[in-house]
Amino acid sequence: MWKAGARTLLGCLVAAALVAAPPRKKAPPVLPPLLPGESLALGTLDRDVFHWGDTASEGPMGGLAHLVWVHMEGDAWLSADVQFKCAGAAGPYHCSTVKGHGKVDLARAMQTCCNLAFMGWAHASAQRWEQDYGEGVARARLLDAFQPFLGRRAPRDEGVPELDMAWFGEGDLLRTSPDALLAWLMDPGQEQAVRLYRRLVLNFADETFKKNAWWVDTATAPVTGAPGTYQAWAVGGNELVLAVLRLPPGTTRSEAQARFVTVMMGGKPKN
Ligand SMILES: [Zn+2]
Repeated sequence: MWKAGARTLLGCLVAAALVAAPPRKKAPPVLPPLLPGESLALGTLDRDVFHWGDTASEGPMGGLAHLVWVHMEGDAWLSADVQFKCAGAAGPYHCSTVKGHGKVDLARAMQTCCNLAFMGWAHASAQRWEQDYGEGVARARLLDAFQPFLGRRAPRDEGVPELDMAWFGEGDLLRTSPDALLAWLMDPGQEQAVRLYRRLVLNFADETFKKNAWWVDTATAPVTGAPGTYQAWAVGGNELVLAVLRLPPGTTRSEAQARFVTVMMGGKPKN
C-alpha cells in the first residue's frame, strides 16, 4: 500500500517536474539586420530553427527546383558526366539568360541556373525511368520527390507529366517558402543531397580541405501577379548551419549572393 502510494507520489513529482521544465529555447544568433522585404530562415546542427521577416508566406520556387532535381538525379547525372550546350532558347523554351550559358556540366548548370540544361537531362532521366520501371512508377517517383512543393497541384494526367519550364524555373506549379524549403533541407533524408550541393558549388580544394567552407546557391523565382518580375533567393550553409534567404521582388541572383555573404558570412568574401 505504502509502496504503491510512494510510487504514485513519485510519478506525480516526475510528471510535475516534466511540466515545470521550461522548453529548451536558445537565443537566435545575432546577425546583421535584414533589408525591407527580406526574410531568412536558419537551422542549426542541433535542429534549432530561427526566423526573421515573413518566412512563412509561399511563392513560386523558380530555379530552386534545380535543388529537387539534384536531390533526385544528381548522383546519376554526375556519374554519367552529363553535358549540355545552352544557346539561350530551345523550341518554345527560354533559359534564365537570353544569350545562353554555353557548354555546361552539372556543377556549372547549378552555379549559373541553366534551366535548359536541367530540362534536357530531366527529359532523358524520365524516359529512362519509363523504360526501366513503367509509366506508373516513373510518375510516382517524380511526384514523390516534388510533393513538398506541389501541394495539391500535381498534374492529373497519367504517366510522367509533361516536363515543361514549370518544373525548372518558371510558372507557379512548384511553390515554397523560406520555412518550407529549410525544413526540406534539414530533413535527415536530404543529408546526402546537401553534401552534393556543397560539392557542386565549392571548388575541389575548398570542398576537400576546408571543413567549414560555406556553400551558397542562388536562384530567381517569378513573382505571382507581376508578369516578368522575379525575386532572388540564396540557399546555403556550412557544417553547422543551413539558411534560406529570400529577397523582395525585383532582385537578382548576384544581389542574393551578396546579401547572403553579408548576413550569414559576416560580410567576408565567399570562403
Ligand atoms: Zn542555360
